[in-house]
This record gives sequence, C-alpha cells and structure tokens, in this order.
Amino acid sequence: MNSKSFKSVFEKYNWGELVDDIYSKTSDNVQDALYKSKRTLDDFKALISPAAKPYLEQMAQLSHELTQKRFGKTIQMYVPLYLSNECQNICTYCGFSFDNKIKRKTLTDAEIIKEAKAIKSMGYDHVLLVTGEANTTVGVDYLKNAMRVVRPYFSHIALEVQPLDENDYLLLAAEGLNTVLVYQETYHEEDYKLHHPKGKKSNFNYRLETPDRLGKAGIHKIGLGTLIGLEDWRVDSFFTALHLEYLEKTYWQTKYSISFPRLRPFSGGLEPKVEMNDHELVQLICAFRIFNEEVELSMSTRESEKFRDHIIKLGITSMSAGSKTNPGGYVIDKQSLEQFEISDERTPAEIATIIRRQGYEPVWKDWDYALQKKN
Ligand code: SF4
Repeated sequence: MNSKSFKSVFEKYNWGELVDDIYSKTSDNVQDALYKSKRTLDDFKALISPAAKPYLEQMAQLSHELTQKRFGKTIQMYVPLYLSNECQNICTYCGFSFDNKIKRKTLTDAEIIKEAKAIKSMGYDHVLLVTGEANTTVGVDYLKNAMRVVRPYFSHIALEVQPLDENDYLLLAAEGLNTVLVYQETYHEEDYKLHHPKGKKSNFNYRLETPDRLGKAGIHKIGLGTLIGLEDWRVDSFFTALHLEYLEKTYWQTKYSISFPRLRPFSGGLEPKVEMNDHELVQLICAFRIFNEEVELSMSTRESEKFRDHIIKLGITSMSAGSKTNPGGYVIDKQSLEQFEISDERTPAEIATIIRRQGYEPVWKDWDYALQKKN
C-alpha cells in the first residue's frame, strides 16, 4: 500500500524562509518566469511576489492566451446545495461554527428533492453538496443517501464536506461521487491551530493528507485552496502550488481545481489578518494559470459583480451563480443564516448572459457519471 503523503514534502519547507524568498524576488526573476515556456515553483514565487506588480497587464494577457488554448472559450457553471449547517468544529471565520448560537438545520430527503429541483430549474446539471462537519448527523451514511436522492437530477456530483477516510471515499465513489473540494484554509500550522481550536478539523495533518486519501481512492477531481485573509496569501498560495505539483505527479490520473475564497463578512465575523486587494487576486489567478496550464480555476459569488465580470477572460474556468449558502436557501428556508454573505446576487441566467456577451459559452454540465462507469 502506498503510504506516501504530502506531509513529507510539506515538512521540508519553512514559512519564514519562504517569506524572505518570495519578497526578495526581482523584476528579472519575474521576466524570466514570463518568457520561458515551462515554469517551476521558483517562477511561481516570482509571479506572486510584489516585484510582479508592474507586470500585471502582461500576466493577464498570457493567462488569457494559455486558458483559451487549453479550455477554449467556455466557463463551467456550478452551484452549491447546502444540506446542513450542523457542525462540531469551532472555526473562527465561519457562521456555522459550533459556538455560534444559530438555528441548526439538516435537510430531509423531501427537502433535498425540493432544493435539487429548484437548482435544476436554473439550468444546472452539476451540483456541489455542502455540509458542516458533524459526524453523527451528516456522516458518510447521510452523504451516501443524499447522493442517491440527488442522482436523478444531476449528472455530476461534487462534495464539500468533512474530510473522510480513504475507505469512505471509495464507498462514495461507487455511489457516483466525481469531485471533492477540501481547502486547507491555511498552511501556517500554528495559525491553523488558532483558527481551529476544537473539533476534528483541529487535526492539521489529517486535513493536509486528505487530498492523498482522495487520490488513492481514485476520485476524479480534487479541489484545493486556502482561505485568503487568514495568513500571508503569498506563502499560503505557494504551498497550494506545491501541493498541486505533488498531487499531479503522484495521482496523475486525477484532475485538479483551485479556488480563491477571500474572507467574507458573516454574523459575528472575523476580520482578515491580511488584506488582499482586487489587483492582487488577479495577480494570483494569472500566476496559477501561467504556472500550470491544466488546472481548473474557480471563482465563487463571494466576489463582487464588477470583479467577476472582469475576471471571466483572465484565466478562470468555472464560476458559481445564484448561490445560496444556507441549508434550504433556494426554497425551504430562504431566511436562515448564510455561511457567508454572497456578494454577486445575480441569477444564473444573468451571469450566463454576461459570459456570452464576452464571447464565451457557459457550460452547465461538468463531466458525466455515465462516462466514469464505462471507464
Ligand atoms: S468552516 Fe466548515 S468546519 Fe468550520 S465551522 Fe464552518 S462548516 Fe464547520
């Protein structure tokens, strides 16, 4: 059995040394990274460094070209279906945190069907099921059942739920699970502990090794990312790129995506420790594209209308639209507390129109489960 994991790679790096390295990159380093055809992790450091700021136009142009070459003029549409806000973890930045006194809700089968039909009526054939991390109420059995309930409505099912053991992923893969998103939140181990003081999520290494368990279970696509604002985004992004490179080499049959969630306000919320402005987010998205031409880059409704309209051509490949981040948010209980505030509240149809106006085609269906069964 393959017992290797990303932990052994991660442990070779020191946060402070990475800060020094990234912040000492020069214009020459950035130009080198821009003009070569294949980039290394050291080039990625240059592209996310402050020295790359004057090269943003050039980076955007290159990112645009590389994305079109690999993905054509398409944007994949996706939407979350929140099944539950029950959570046994304390996370300092989340509205569903165990210590936040909110009404807890887990959808029943009948409620899941109502929500699934509402999402289907928006045009989606692809759904992202989301829960808090509560093993007793939304553990593997609940997820397995929920997947069976939504299966008739969607050809692609993704999960953003608690990290699971490899056997659980194998079981869910047999039920038609295509994609799992699992964000590390931050790779800064000490700060990770401060932000996750209680619950299973406080185990940094178990989370860090989750993509390994997904890769070993043969999950079709794995989504990575950090919560931008918890720590220095440049160093956290370097670790995401390192993680991506390791996973691509180790589980080469799996596809990968990166998301860029910036801390958003929520009831009783945490202020970001480190602010990232819009220019820096564009820089980061372009840097990932220039570093890796294959990886899917995803943009959620956390970001503003203006920013999302602008970013369509600059490197991203998927976008959510019409999202609700509360269980029952589409039909059952529209007023319940959201996990975080949505910034872009336009409907999927409106977003599709904006995408088409820019000469791109919105794609409502990701990869089909039927294809997986044939392979
Ligand atoms: S981020 Fe996830 S694990 Fe943490 S409190 Fe929110 S729902 Fe629970």
